[in-house]
Amino acid sequence: MKKDLKRRDFVNKCFKAGVTCCALVYGNPALAQDPIRQQPQKPDPKNLNYCGYKCSAECPVYKATIENSPELKKKAYEEFKMKEKYNIDFDPDRIFCYGCKQKDKPVSVTVNSCSVRRCAIGKGYDCCIECNKLTVCDKELWKSLPQFREAVIKMQKSYKNA
Ligand code: SF4
Ligand code: SF4
Repeated sequence: MKKDLKRRDFVNKCFKAGVTCCALVYGNPALAQDPIRQQPQKPDPKNLNYCGYKCSAECPVYKATIENSPELKKKAYEEFKMKEKYNIDFDPDRIFCYGCKQKDKPVSVTVNSCSVRRCAIGKGYDCCIECNKLTVCDKELWKSLPQFREAVIKMQKSYKNA
């Protein structure tokens, strides 16, 4: 129960941060360390999402997309509070996600609204670990998920020092 509450708190913070687009929302706080655990000694920005996260194959939106299931999409739509957050009505054709770096796939409404992704693309980075402003960046994602931010900063150190 306590664990569930913690997870819910984390989820709520993610919603506020505007990261309803990715599986980051569905993990527990330990997920914030995953970018470190998953990376080899020198992290490769090309293999990471723009913020440093790696999408989980367990993401409900991704699974619904791959299975092309209107039922699963509806469930994910409600769980991610897409009406409340993005004011989009449920339409199975608009509720999908292939991650935030798939060049040959359409970009979902939710991913498209991510300010970190937009900023990194604008600066020509594959990932924020390439950015010298990471430690002082004021994007809501970092402010709302300090544990995740710490993990990404550590990853940046490995990237720069390796
Ligand atoms: S950059 Fe944005 S859209 Fe991509 S994984 Fe991170 S929070 Fe999600
Ligand atoms: S300023 Fe740097 S760290 Fe912040 S979102 Fe943009 S690319 Fe990422």
